[in-house]
Amino acid sequence: MDEITGIIPCSTTPYSEFKNHIGEEVTIKGAIHNIRLMTDFAFILIRTAREVIQCVYSPEFSDYRLADNVVEQAAVKITGKVVKSETRDGSERYELQIHNIDILSVPADIPPVVISKKEVVCDLSVDLDYRPVTLRNPKERAVFKLQEGIQRGFREYLQSQGFTEIHSPKINFAGAEGGTNVFKLDYFGKTVFLAQSPQLYKQALVPVYERVFEIAPVFRAEHHDTSRHLNEYISMDFEMGYIDSFTDIMNMETGALKYIMELLKKEYAPEVELLKADIPQITTIPCIKFKDAKALCVKKLKNITDMKDFEPEEEMFLGKWAKQQFNSDFLFVTHYLSKKRPFYTMDDPDDPEVTLSFDLLFRGIEITSGGQRIHDYNMQVEKMKKLGMDPAQFETYLMLHKYGAPPHGGLGLGLERLTMHLLGFKNVRYAAMFPRDINRVTP
Ligand code: ATP
Ligand code: MG
Repeated sequence: MDEITGIIPCSTTPYSEFKNHIGEEVTIKGAIHNIRLMTDFAFILIRTAREVIQCVYSPEFSDYRLADNVVEQAAVKITGKVVKSETRDGSERYELQIHNIDILSVPADIPPVVISKKEVVCDLSVDLDYRPVTLRNPKERAVFKLQEGIQRGFREYLQSQGFTEIHSPKINFAGAEGGTNVFKLDYFGKTVFLAQSPQLYKQALVPVYERVFEIAPVFRAEHHDTSRHLNEYISMDFEMGYIDSFTDIMNMETGALKYIMELLKKEYAPEVELLKADIPQITTIPCIKFKDAKALCVKKLKNITDMKDFEPEEEMFLGKWAKQQFNSDFLFVTHYLSKKRPFYTMDDPDDPEVTLSFDLLFRGIEITSGGQRIHDYNMQVEKMKKLGMDPAQFETYLMLHKYGAPPHGGLGLGLERLTMHLLGFKNVRYAAMFPRDINRVTP
């Protein structure tokens, strides 16, 4: 009888270990990324999980003869000798002198777009149509490797701060944020909604675990086609109890962002370099109250009509202002108007017109909304009534308040938005692996 040991024998040598094997024969597995035929030799680039390794074929090195099935995108196993290669910038690189190529699989067709060059050169819509293929391009896949680093940093930091990771349901009897951008779903004859955020559930878990976080998709039926809205995006959320003030939440986010940026520099250096990612240096993040920020915008910008919220150009202006005044890529704007924040937001006891809430702007674009929540039952019921909501419809949610909740608050941070501005993309779709927008549900 065979027995499964749980051990996977390592049959390939990672590129990072090549330096310890100079002059020795090693084996690698990967896809043929690019073949460049020269007069009496060939460069064959092998794409492994995170690298592209240069291999050189020449009849000089071995008796192996290149066959017709050595084509781009074929999956191969190559054995060869590790040698130091020459680089223009003088840095240490290694390549393999090919001894043998085992073909593991051969593609049925050539890719519909060229993916073996530095960049995939085509329209965004074509790129997205062929995402399973275009993502093979090293630069394109690096975006999502880096995005992994952001999520990992968020998770690791919060775990180090005593947070418990949760998963809340995405099919619900109500949306969370309200408004019109909620997707309806037929649920065995009943109408239900896709979650716009994990808000109500993460709050419910504060009296249970005190500090919780979730990294998961949320759904927003955005009826417009903009460069910063998706209909499904990854929300990085947390909620924490026993806060002294809503600044605790901003401090926690600042700590998380610092940790994330350091992690990217340390463990995602190849991607940072490939993408020329401009990783911000965070020491402290400046804060400004909404009304003061609005006054600045009114003073400096023309045609401001909406005094209750910001237009994108105002956020952009505030981003530049924070850079000039504080050399900061980030700016917290606090105390948004009560009218403009959701029903669960705590009003400022000193000025009930405004809330104990904030947005975080990164390079002039909102990436986070957060704040303190109402924890008192009567206060929450009153606020719901004032907003014309029926508390009876929120019986499950109100269990949180009815049966006791500590002062608490939290935030939601859009993963694609953060990625987009870290990498200087003009469109959020570049930062979504398989984006869903008003015109796209495939691939
Ligand atoms: P915006 O005003 O930019 O439309 P919002 O205030 O409606 O966003 P929130 O409910 O505050 O959004 O969501 C928290 C965060 O989630 C936002 O700061 C943003 O980073 C991200 N986000 C919100 N909506 C979208 C969307 N449609 N696509 C991608 N990210 C989004
Ligand atoms: Mg917001």
